Amino acid sequence: MEAEAARSADTHVLRVPLPGLRGIDLYVKDESAHSTGSLKHRLARSLFLYGLCNGWIAPHITIVEASSGSTAVSKAYFAQMLGLPFVAVVPASTTAEKIAEIARYGGHSHMVAQSSEVYAETAQTAATSNGQYMDQFTYAERATDWRGNNNIAQSIFDQLSLERYLVPTWIVVGAGAGGTSATIGRYLRYRSYSVRLCLADPEASVFHRHLADPSTTATNAVFLVERIGRGRLEPSFLPS
Ligand SMILES: *Cc1c(COP(=O)(O)O)cnc(C)c1O
Repeated sequence: MEAEAARSADTHVLRVPLPGLRGIDLYVKDESAHSTGSLKHRLARSLFLYGLCNGWIAPHITIVEASSGSTAVSKAYFAQMLGLPFVAVVPASTTAEKIAEIARYGGHSHMVAQSSEVYAETAQTAATSNGQYMDQFTYAERATDWRGNNNIAQSIFDQLSLERYLVPTWIVVGAGAGGTSATIGRYLRYRSYSVRLCLADPEASVFHRHLADPSTTATNAVFLVERIGRGRLEPSFLPS
């Protein structure tokens, strides 16, 4: 795992021109620029390290994960690297392209009809296959070393170190499992930055509804863009 990290480059921070807005600089951290082309490469790496150091991942273990696609691609990559079988439990709506990417890294996709069935089916698959359920939706927030170790927050601040504004006013982040927002939020407090953290969440999604009203933990939403927004309040999402 360490050798793979040493061979890999960090993702780019791209500057977005805003000719109409003087004095405002906008940057985009392009997390798709990892070797697998998946946004979830950093998360998958953290979850594998967490599983290895907890003793959950060992020889002859099958890695099992609930995913709508991107995380599974990165997990397939790391499982193949470690010589372990990988099974992704995915909703039937997952694109053929994603299934092919998972297969490219030796992973097997197990389809379920509804996305709501994914969690129980993944637990069942792990229980019957000498498997380890990686459970990104529970562990994403704690698997990442939030103080450093090239987490996404530390990477952003390092990459802005020669810009005219070293510390942003806002960092805007989406949420899937909640790991990225938790890591950035903790890092901002740890380093005593007065940066504000904005969660960008689709109207139909549950996260911003939960922030406004903690009793809201689910929506029956239909999402317009695959993977943007969630209907279930994931345990890994930390409003505080
Ligand atoms: C995964 C993902 C995020 C970040 O999600 P976390 O799981 O909360 O870290 C943001 N946007 C998109 C489109 C994603 O797929």
